[in-house]
Amino acid sequence: MTKTPTEFSRKAWIEACRFHDLDNRKVLDQVIESARKLSGEKAAVLLDLDSTLYEVGPRTAKILQEWNASPSSREFPEVREAIERMKPEQVGYSLEDTFYHLALNTQTPSAQAALKSMKSFWGARFFTNEYLDFDHAYPGAAEFVKELYKTGIELIYLTGRDEPGMGQGTRKRLLQDGFPWEVARTHLLLKRDFHLDDLEHKAGAANYVHGIGHLVASFENEPPNLIALSDIFEQSMHVFVDTVYSERAARPKDGLYRITDYRSFV
Ligand SMILES: [Mg+2]
Repeated sequence: MTKTPTEFSRKAWIEACRFHDLDNRKVLDQVIESARKLSGEKAAVLLDLDSTLYEVGPRTAKILQEWNASPSSREFPEVREAIERMKPEQVGYSLEDTFYHLALNTQTPSAQAALKSMKSFWGARFFTNEYLDFDHAYPGAAEFVKELYKTGIELIYLTGRDEPGMGQGTRKRLLQDGFPWEVARTHLLLKRDFHLDDLEHKAGAANYVHGIGHLVASFENEPPNLIALSDIFEQSMHVFVDTVYSERAARPKDGLYRITDYRSFV
């Protein structure tokens, strides 16, 4: 009898996985080493952008400050005050998470109304070229990717961002932040349409990788995406970038890699 594998979300998923017992630098060096071994053959690395190479909290923080300054927030003085005092580390994956970090109750009718107003304000801005200007590349991320590129590998930036809304800003930021881009062996896979499912888009990228050759490693902050890729590419390294992630549950797995930052490359 086959049992449906149990899925877990967030901390419970992390605890249920058995990651290789290596520090950040050792994981990153191992990716570079594996890429080097395949030099001369066609091989690729998949790199997610949001919350993998880029910290998007500042993008949300900027939007929330603008909401605070807009007439939309007038009815919610308590929330405005909390946003006013918000520290960068209090920006969560979702606006609900952010409310939680700000010790704001999400259950009252007024909080629900504030969240609704904030969400529509945020949703109209977060997925746009203009607001990508507020992201921060994680310290050391570009330096690491540059080292990796020197091995001769193909770099595939694989993101749930959509071409119409965010393509231009994404390319601009890659160049501006010093990630290899507009050079040979670099690829960017965006969703052609905003409404496509992220997971389907990412799993669909497998065909693109197969067209190139081997997959050395994938980097992802979203457990379901990482698991989907690891199911397709069983021989590759799959690196969970432990920054922020959604509540979407995933099957735990052994043999994954985990990093918390790229600072050892600064
Ligand atoms: Mg991501």
